[in-house]
Formats: sequence, C-alpha cells, structure tokens
Amino acid sequence: MLTWTNSIKALQDMLSNAKRVLVVSHMNPDGDAVGASLAWRSYLRAAYPNMEVRVAFPNKFPEFLRWIEGAEQAMAYTDKKEATLDYIKNCDLIFCLDFNDLSRLEALGEALAAHSAPRVLIDHHLQPSEEFDLVFSDVSMSSASELVYHIVVALGGKPLLAKGAAEALYVGLMTDTGSFSFGVKTPKTFRMAADLMELGIDKDEVASKVYDSYSEKRMRLLGYCLHRKMRVFPKQKAAYISLSREELDEFCFQPGDTEGFVNFPLSIKKVALSALFTESQDKTHIRVSLRSKGKILSVNELARKHFNGGGHFNASGGKYFDSLKNCEAYFENILKNELYL
Ligand code: 5GP
Ligand code: MN
Repeated sequence: MLTWTNSIKALQDMLSNAKRVLVVSHMNPDGDAVGASLAWRSYLRAAYPNMEVRVAFPNKFPEFLRWIEGAEQAMAYTDKKEATLDYIKNCDLIFCLDFNDLSRLEALGEALAAHSAPRVLIDHHLQPSEEFDLVFSDVSMSSASELVYHIVVALGGKPLLAKGAAEALYVGLMTDTGSFSFGVKTPKTFRMAADLMELGIDKDEVASKVYDSYSEKRMRLLGYCLHRKMRVFPKQKAAYISLSREELDEFCFQPGDTEGFVNFPLSIKKVALSALFTESQDKTHIRVSLRSKGKILSVNELARKHFNGGGHFNASGGKYFDSLKNCEAYFENILKNELYL
C-alpha cells in the first residue's frame, strides 16, 4: 500500500498522461455516487482542459439528482449501452468511485473487467477488492465525495472548484451522512462543509432540491410503507418493510422513490435494525437495504453473510435470490435465531 503522498504523486502521473477518462460509480447510484462522480468530472475538466472526461453509471439515477452540474451528460449503461461501450473502448484511465468491488457495477463491471486501462479506486467502504491499480480507500471518510475533496486539495486543485462542483460534493456529504446525523467520524467533515460554503454553495437550496422533491405518489408510498407494511419485532429490536413489484407499480415507482425509506423504522426508539426488501423489476431477486443504529450491530457483516452484499457498519445492502415471501421468512429466521440485540 502506498503512502498518501506517493499515491497522490502516482495519481498526478496518471492524470498527466491520460487523454480519455471514464468515471464510474455503483448500481442504483445514490447522492454520494452521483455527487462524487460529477464533482470529480468537473474538477478534471477544469484542471485538464484537453482531457475528455465522461461519467457512466450502471443504470439511471434518481430525478432528484438531475440538476447537478454534468448530470445531463452522464451515461446510464442500461439506457445507452452502445454509446457507453463505444466511449469505454478507447479510454485510457478509469476512476471507480463510491464502491469497492467491480461486481457492484453488474453488466458494466463485466465490460470493464477485461479493459487494459488502469483503474483508480476512490472509496470509503470496508474491504476493497484487489481489482484496482491505485487505491484511495478510507473508511474514516463520511463519503466518497469527502475523499474526492481531499484528493482535489492535495492536487492543488481547490481554486479550480467552481460552484457546480462544490454543490455536487455537498450532495454526497449531506446524503451519505443523513444531513450530518451519522457517518461523520472526524471534525474534518465539518471543515469541508464550511469550505464548500466558502466556495459559494447555498446549502439550504441544495438540501431543498434533494429532499423536497417527492412526487405525490412517492409520499403516499412512504405513508403506505409505514402504516401498512412495516413489521416491528420489539424483542429483537428490529423492523422491516417489504414491497412487491405490484405494490411498487401501484404507486408508479420511479428509481430513487424508496431512497431513505429504510431509515424511518430506526426513528422508533427501540428499533436498532431496519431492513427494506424490494422486488426487482424482472422479479429475479429482492433488493435488500439494511441499517443499524449504534455501535453494536454491523449490517455490513449481515449483508455479507446473508445477502451477497456489503457496505458500511451501519448501512449496507445486498440481494436475495428467491421470492419476497421467502426473503421475509429468511430474515425473520435470522432475527429469531442469530441476533440478540
Ligand atoms: P442502500 O441500502 O442505500 O442501497 O446501500 C447502503 C450501502 O450499502 C451503500 O454504501 C452501498 O454502497 C452498499 N450496498 C448496497 N447494495 C450493495 C450490494 O449489493 N453489494 C455491496 N457490496 N454493497 C452494497
Ligand atoms: Mn458513499
């Protein structure tokens, strides 16, 4: 493992030789995936005017992130497969942001696995895989966006961060910390937020664009989840919500509509573990989101052990390859037999 200074030097060398750069982030991109990627793109374009830089995600990202600078030019592999592959073919440097394993890119990851261009990881998840040539991995970072910011500063690029890039970084910081209520592990995170304000962001406006953006259907879906679908297990201090495709369709589900729903049961004083199960569109699997409160239960371990996934200590995700009913039964079984919260 290189020291920070040597990693920055190696990155500088890579950047000075790169002509066509790809920035990618994970499936079902969230605020940090999109914020970090678009901010990194904005910085690279400002610092290296002759470099071609494009951002690609495995699938589309939610509407409430579409206002961020550069969002319109980003490619979604599920939507623009040919155009994405065409760009990827001749790129000479690949940045992987906010994930730790190429499998998180699904089909796009397969397209990249055989690519000869060096891969640089910029991430804050536990246990990165060995698929990367240069690794910036720091679990003390609140978000990939925070790590991007520190890298930009180390490269001497802070003066090049315009308002659009600062807004993108703030989106990542704000969304990955639940508006600074969890995941802030060092005072540096608040210093960065202060720096972003000095760079001209209007933090209230950014928060409003991200959070006050529900469609009526989405708000009603949330109400339905909490009123009708949340199951609470007081003895196990746990709760879960499960949603079938039919239920999602009834509320005209759009990508991102269930973002954040898994956190709501944790607002119940005695609930320390929350899960959200949503049936995939093709009904081949169940998407699993897990959250825990406090320092006792690692949902990263839970996701790794039971749901082919991973993530952070208090926030993780994965998949379950069977029916929704069986997923519920499987989870209840885990609650009853394994977890003594
Ligand atoms: P979410 O529940 O919001 O989809 O994801 C929460 C956290 O878990 C994120 O940090 C995300 O990167 C991670 N995560 C979500 N799904 C998966 C997955 O399928 N595999 C792995 N390894 N991590 C995941
Ligand atoms: Mn993140």
